[in-house]
Amino acid sequence: MRHNRSQRGSTRSHHALKGIALTKCADCNSVVMRHQACSNCGKYRGKVIVNLEAKQLKAKKKSDKKSEAK
Ligand SMILES: [Zn+2]
Repeated sequence: MRHNRSQRGSTRSHHALKGIALTKCADCNSVVMRHQACSNCGKYRGKVIVNLEAKQLKAKKKSDKKSEAK
């Protein structure tokens, strides 16, 4: 059923986007998105989720391989 202008407007008054929820990492105090592991230390709620050292090593190996190929 067709709405009038005020009904349409009052519906759309709830359609605005909210900003992303940012918090600080408990471990290293950097700004982190909520419910995501910290990109600085790889921890979520005090636990190591992402092993950043291993990740860096892997990235390095990959780049080494690339430079060898050239
Ligand atoms: Zn952190």
